[in-house]
Amino acid sequence: MSGKVDLHTHTYYSDGALSPRELVMRAHEVGIGVLSITDHDNIDGIGEAMGVAGDFGIEIIPGVELSSTLGTKDIHILGYMFDPDNRQLRDTLSFLKKERFIRAERIVRKLNNLDLPLDFDSVLEHAGLGAVGRPHIAAAMLDEGLTENYAEAFESYIGESGPAFEPKYKISPEDAVEIIANAGGISILAHPGWYVSENDLSYLIHAGIDGVEVVHPAHDEHRRRYYRGIASEYFLLESGGSDFHGGKRNDYPNFGTFTITVDTVQAMKRRLFIQ
Ligand code: AMP
Ligand code: ZN
Ligand code: FE
Ligand code: FE
Repeated sequence: MSGKVDLHTHTYYSDGALSPRELVMRAHEVGIGVLSITDHDNIDGIGEAMGVAGDFGIEIIPGVELSSTLGTKDIHILGYMFDPDNRQLRDTLSFLKKERFIRAERIVRKLNNLDLPLDFDSVLEHAGLGAVGRPHIAAAMLDEGLTENYAEAFESYIGESGPAFEPKYKISPEDAVEIIANAGGISILAHPGWYVSENDLSYLIHAGIDGVEVVHPAHDEHRRRYYRGIASEYFLLESGGSDFHGGKRNDYPNFGTFTITVDTVQAMKRRLFIQ
């Protein structure tokens, strides 16, 4: 195990731009030796990445970023080092994908009833291989000239108080932690600095997260220090990465910059009794 470590990246199996193969090649170019692909509610990129990583001397850590809900907040839980063939995990992910599809159909039907002639197929084109969500609906609306801009689609139609809103199937943070643990992995709270209050944080620690993300583009040095302190105080693992989406949102400079050390990966393995 050598080189930089990035445990938070996305491919076109969720909302990233690159294939797993392209991501691995790019990782090699920026000096990453240990990489985890953490697609949103999807693990389809792991096998492909493992297939090519050997050629570049890169170790792939199985990963996923599960969307859970606490109150009205989206809480992202990163899972690592689980068995990608675990039945319960695979079944849950395919269930969530189906639920998202049905929900997107409902949203499009509501839009059609509001006299917006949005075509469901164009939404699916935007989703590509990933699970379909509101960002794809907004992008399709924009393409078809049904909204002035992306933000307006949310404000006027598909946002939480919009007339075409449909809630998502919800899993709790406890569910997310349990699914990952049952598949033999560890759970890390993603980018807590984005939205997690101190109250939520203590709730999530009680819910059984194994660690917190310390290094992330949304965390300045002050936040890093804060979450490192939390990790040591509550005997939690530390993690981190770039949350790279393959050039979307101009995030290329982040890849290879927001990295952690191999000690972190070794601590995770020790927690799971992996040699
Ligand atoms: P979904 O999981 O399908 O409900 O979509 C959630 C995603 O939609 C979020 O991760 C954001 O990227 C995007 N989103 C949610 N609300 C807004 C908003 N008001 N403006 C722009 N993007 C939004
Ligand atoms: Zn994403
Ligand atoms: Fe996230
Ligand atoms: Fe992410």
